[in-house]
Amino acid sequence: MKKNSYDFELERIKKVVKERGARRVGLQLPNGLKTVATDIAAEISKETGVEVIISGNSCYGACDIDEKLEKVVDLLFHFGHSETFSQAKTFPKKGVFFIELRSGVDIKPVVEKAVAKIEGKVVGLTATVQHAHALNEAKISLARYGKKALIGKSRLKYDGQVLGCDFSSAMVPCDEILFIGSGGFHPSGLALYTGKRVIAADPFTLQINVYEAEELRKKRYIAIARALNARSVGIIIGMKSGQFNLNDAILLRVKAIEKGLNAYLIAMDEIRADKLLGFAVDAFVNTACPRLVEDFVHFEKPVISAKEFEVVLGERRWEDIFELLLVVG
Ligand code: SF4
Repeated sequence: MKKNSYDFELERIKKVVKERGARRVGLQLPNGLKTVATDIAAEISKETGVEVIISGNSCYGACDIDEKLEKVVDLLFHFGHSETFSQAKTFPKKGVFFIELRSGVDIKPVVEKAVAKIEGKVVGLTATVQHAHALNEAKISLARYGKKALIGKSRLKYDGQVLGCDFSSAMVPCDEILFIGSGGFHPSGLALYTGKRVIAADPFTLQINVYEAEELRKKRYIAIARALNARSVGIIIGMKSGQFNLNDAILLRVKAIEKGLNAYLIAMDEIRADKLLGFAVDAFVNTACPRLVEDFVHFEKPVISAKEFEVVLGERRWEDIFELLLVVG
């Protein structure tokens, strides 16, 4: 099965199901691909006889495994992300398999289109896991236009690969960054955390978008400035295991109280604006996914990350909030 030329690896899935003698399996797909979930379920079920349960919950990142579903199935197939090194050691034993959805789309047309937007001589080449295998080809295309491209080593599975909270592969000596992939989540994070101009090239739509670091950083500075006046804070603990930072939350509460603030710990599975509305605090500190705070720039109360809260507490310099991240263990 192919959609947007993604490889759903159905043959591999069926093989694993048979080898493991599974009787019930779970499927977890990102929202944009839930439309094909029933087709995948039908095919696996028809060819292996296994019972399939599709997760209706979120599937935002490698950190976001549907653990409740995992408990009631023999195997769980998580689509759209690659496992981190620590997950790779334990997850197959637990029966959790990552299907990366490698894309077969030709990236040359969009790379050639992106050249017009590249201002510097050297670009850092990055991609989501779906396109990381095509980065060498992109490098060759760029060389034809006189642009030198560097593909950085990553803490993730592939060189040049980025995750919403890991941009280690972009730390190469370059003038700007070319990102191959869809959506604004990764390129905006790249700009925010590297401080560089990012050209985002979508191989499916052939759209090119440019992200300027300063514009994005200003929004974070404004959120921190708003939180400086808070007398009370709700410190959010994300209850998804890949985002569960209880000790950090407890420590931040202790520090907040030492600074004379009222601080409360709030545990949540899904962190959404409507769930925060009822709490009588002046600001929120999110210790779960560090990128989530960017969704709350228009929320009536400031929502800041743990590092940003350290600025509020006077323990971190404003310019140090964009240190590279790696949240998923
Ligand atoms: S912590 Fe956030 S950015 Fe990192 S993988 Fe999870 S959802 Fe993505």
